[in-house]
Formats: sequence, structure tokens, C-alpha cells
Amino acid sequence: MKVIRTISEFRTQRKSFSCVGLVPTMGAFHEGHLSLMRTAKIECGSSAVSLFVNPTQFGPHEDFARYPRNEDRDFGLAANAGVDLMFAPPVDEIYPRHTTVVHVSEVAESFEGSVRSQHFDGVATIVSKLFHIIEPTVSYFGLKDLQQCAVVQRMVEDLDFPTKLRFIEVVREHDGLAMSSRNVYLTSSERAVAPKLYQQLTLCAEQVSTGACGVAEAISSSLEYLNSNGFSIDYFALVNPTTMIPSESPQSTDRLVVAARLGHIRLLDNVPLIPAI
Ligand code: AMP
Repeated sequence: MKVIRTISEFRTQRKSFSCVGLVPTMGAFHEGHLSLMRTAKIECGSSAVSLFVNPTQFGPHEDFARYPRNEDRDFGLAANAGVDLMFAPPVDEIYPRHTTVVHVSEVAESFEGSVRSQHFDGVATIVSKLFHIIEPTVSYFGLKDLQQCAVVQRMVEDLDFPTKLRFIEVVREHDGLAMSSRNVYLTSSERAVAPKLYQQLTLCAEQVSTGACGVAEAISSSLEYLNSNGFSIDYFALVNPTTMIPSESPQSTDRLVVAARLGHIRLLDNVPLIPAI
């Protein structure tokens, strides 16, 4: 695996590969990241990973400074996952200045967009830059960040980026908790409670998909259960995953999305209404 720090060096190395699968990341790798990398390698023959903790997608009171960073560990894991090119630039290589911003409207405005203003401007801008620098044939994103997938898909369509997109299902711990780089911040008592979020999502999806409950009723009993277990819910909704518009009558492609705070940690998760067979 080649570790590359500059845009010009990346462009030189890129010429040796025809089909490249890109996995954009902020590091602190876990099995969720590694499954994207392995899929990219299998499907494209060669893979590139970007490791860049993107300051512009963090709000002023968010955890940019203390986001977990361990490049040497990450490089070892990525090399084992068969990554060919590791693009890990310093911040001033990517942002010598920051005057142009990519803004996706509609799909980026609800849910995470309403809780974290500017977050998706930061995401859309860095992903655009990575698409121009890396020129991926296929780009891989995790459904863990469902709205990010929807925002990137809309941006690729609207701005005609010549990359295909692949979205990969959420990878979970053995007890169902969605893997996340931020899970290391959970205290042991929070970590013990955290899997209830996924358990409640799956229960709610089952209630709605079998018709045992209506959407509003199933969501309101989920909110009650989670609140009584110490979660503070930012949102819990059934949505169309392409538009992020809440579904009034459930469709088989809909997903249930949740964002909830447990202590100081914000957990994001989502499940398909109908589990894939
Ligand atoms: P991050 O480093 O958190 O920006 O994540 C990099 C990529 O990995 C994004 O496309 C995420 O959606 C994806 N990802 C993170 N956690 C998971 C997970 N548990 N399962 C699947 N994909 C994930």
C-alpha cells in the first residue's frame, strides 16, 4: 500500500490504475470501514482510501479536536484489507483557502442537516474535492450514515460526477450496536444500554412491516421506551432513503432512522423496514 500526502503525488500514482474503488473516511478504522475497503478491492480490482478528518463538517462545539486519530494503526488495517492507495493529506493541502462551498438543498436540510447546520456543506465540499482528485470509478459509502448517502447521490446526479456509487449495509457489533469510531467514548454503563437503540429499531420495523401497528403508533411507543432507558432522541422517523422525506404510508424500500444522545455521545442508526433476505 502506498501512503500519499499530496494531490500532485496522488495524481501521478493514479495513472497506474484503470478501475479504482474509493472509500472516503476520517480514520479510526473498524470493521465497518474495512468491509467497504474489501468490497471496493473485490469489485474494482484496486482501491483507494482517503483518511482525512475534515474540519469543515464539524460544528464549532463538536469533537474535531478530540476525534480519534491513529494513523499507524489505520495504515496497518488498510494494508491488510488490500488497499492500494492511501491518500492522507494534511489540512492545508486540501484547504489552502476555503472560499468555495458545495451546498445540496432539500435532501440535506432535514434530520442531521437541521441538527448540525453546515455539516452537509462540509461533507459535499470534501467529497467533491475527493472525486476530482481521486477520479474513482466507483465510490463506496456506508448506509450507517444514511442521509450522507442520500446527499452524495443527489450531488453526483446534479453535478454529473462520473463515478458510480455503492452503498453498503451497516456493520454491527455482536450485540447489534452499529459500529462507529465514536463508540470508544461511551462509558461502560452507556455501552451496556446502547444496543437497545438497534433492538428498538428492529422491533419498530417489524411492527410497521407486519401491520401490527401504524407508523405513528410504533414510533411513539419506541420514543417512550428509549426515553425511559436514558436516551434523548433528536429524531426517529420512517423515511424514503433517497429523498429523506418521511413516509406516511410505508414502502418496502423505506428505512427507519434514529439519532439519539446517550450521555455526551450521539448515536446514529437506521434499519430497512423489510430486512434483506
Ligand atoms: P467515517 O470515517 O465515520 O467518515 O466513515 C467512513 C465511511 O464508513 C462512511 O461511508 C461511513 O458511512 C462508513 N461507515 C462508518 N461506520 C459504518 C458501519 N458501522 N457500517 C458500515 N459503514 C460504516
